[in-house]
Amino acid sequence: MGNKRKITVGKNSGFCFGVKRAYDLASMNSFDCEKLHMLGKMVHNNDVCAKLKKMGIKEIKRLSDVRDGAIIFTAHGVGPGLYEKANRNGLRIIDTTCPKVMKAQRLAQNFIEKGWCVVIFGDKHHKEVKGIKEWSKNEAITAGCLKNIKKIKLDKKKKYCLISQTTQNVAEFKKIKEYLSKKLPNFLSFNTICDSTDNRQNEIRKLAKKNDAVIVIGGRDSANTKRLFEIANSINPNSYLIENEKGLRKSWFTGAKKIAISAGASTPEWVIRAVIDKIAKID
Ligand code: SF4
Repeated sequence: MGNKRKITVGKNSGFCFGVKRAYDLASMNSFDCEKLHMLGKMVHNNDVCAKLKKMGIKEIKRLSDVRDGAIIFTAHGVGPGLYEKANRNGLRIIDTTCPKVMKAQRLAQNFIEKGWCVVIFGDKHHKEVKGIKEWSKNEAITAGCLKNIKKIKLDKKKKYCLISQTTQNVAEFKKIKEYLSKKLPNFLSFNTICDSTDNRQNEIRKLAKKNDAVIVIGGRDSANTKRLFEIANSINPNSYLIENEKGLRKSWFTGAKKIAISAGASTPEWVIRAVIDKIAKID
């Protein structure tokens, strides 16, 4: 017996452009390369990591763990030092750095070369930010919020350029930009924040309001998935976070006619599909 539930899947659900591109590049190369390594996790998602492993892609922590074959740099990007090291060791590089991250890297590199001071709005411990900073010869100043930006000793005789980690908050970036433009006579800013995160969060706000239950799919250690769940749950308490279809519970759907589904940027299409199919079968 079927049911009359309406399932709406958010248009901005699942792999973002950069992760999809990275995944496709890695899987394409798995066909013609025997010794394929990936430096760090492609995404925080166990299903994706298991699939990559099945393709023969070995996840490694340090480049020095690889003797030959090919190395995949993930969408987060890496600094110039790792390209040099990989080339020196004769490794083939499969570069899946997201073009949006690469833009921030190039800005950092170019402005430092021209003698400017570069400020990165971002988390200094994050892989992407570390990479961007390395492109600035490690000279860029990193700050995660306006409060910390205010602690920077500014030299008004110098020129400053502001860029951002791609997953930062747009509102905070604007505040930082406004603050620095008032303080500095020579100041330029480049909003390098990716709109993928923002679109996804705006969409789930609307979905959580309009539906009886919300299912958010993604890895438990994926920051963007957790954020999506928090937003949904704050609007609709009938919201649930699952890693894949195995996490679904029949009781969540009692009396729920309209179900919304969203997924983090690291959640693959095949997992979303399996969740939809299982919900459709629940009476
Ligand atoms: S979130 Fe944006 S910047 Fe990051 S990998 Fe995806 S598309 Fe690229």
